[in-house]
Amino acid sequence: MALKHWLAGALVAAAVGASGADAQRPTLTSPRIYVFENGTISGLDPALFNFKREELKQVDFVDMAYLIVHPRGTVMVDSGSLPDSHFKSDGAPVVEGVVTATKPVLPQLKAAGYEPRDITYFVLSHYHSDHTGNANAFAGSTWIVQKAERDYMFADKPEGIIQPDTYSALRNAKTKILDNEDFDIFGDGSVVVMATPGHTPGHQVVAVKLANRGTVVLAGDLYHYPEERTTGRTPTFEFAPEQSKASRARIEKYVKDNNAQLWIEHDVATHAALPKAPAYID
Ligand SMILES: [Zn+2]
Repeated sequence: MALKHWLAGALVAAAVGASGADAQRPTLTSPRIYVFENGTISGLDPALFNFKREELKQVDFVDMAYLIVHPRGTVMVDSGSLPDSHFKSDGAPVVEGVVTATKPVLPQLKAAGYEPRDITYFVLSHYHSDHTGNANAFAGSTWIVQKAERDYMFADKPEGIIQPDTYSALRNAKTKILDNEDFDIFGDGSVVVMATPGHTPGHQVVAVKLANRGTVVLAGDLYHYPEERTTGRTPTFEFAPEQSKASRARIEKYVKDNNAQLWIEHDVATHAALPKAPAYID
């Protein structure tokens, strides 16, 4: 009987420890990344990206989001394509235009041990709607954004691939505004937001130094297809293609100098090879 009680207690403690973010933090000595999958974008015309079908290995996109956990805080990077609220109670995939959402984001965050209120910083690679789906959920975090991007998002009439309803709560979030500059979030060089304008006025990537895997660049939509890296082509809907080329050159140099991995956020092959939350990469 006593053993049974002890066992039950130990199991409860283990379960609480596994799901409680506070329990994990003191033991962390270096960052880890959790990868969340939200769904796919299919039926895209390669011509939008200045490619012919036969030039691309894979035309469809995946939609991803990431959580970086650092010993001194957490950073959510992007938030999926469709708000979790668009899922019905049966959890069936939600199809809206070219977007198919297969998994809501916040339950994956929870499975990793975190609620939105546990997220210290929120970073959007950019304002396109396939990245802002659940942005409002992170309005209690400190939003790290480039001034040009924020100005565009809250213009009188924001235009383009944009769903202001999904990020409207960020207007009043505590905000760290950057002026086309990088930001070393924790001051130790391990998680750095890098200004990479071009795709949008204030597009950003996030470089993360991991103890085991090495340096990873969460590249957002700096590229959409790996073939853009070798051909130098930019999408037809790029905000400022010349800026994109300069941003890409800068990041390619960073990747080379740091022997980094570049994770193109929509790339199917990259993410097929990565463990998904609640597993993590460190
Ligand atoms: Zn995108």
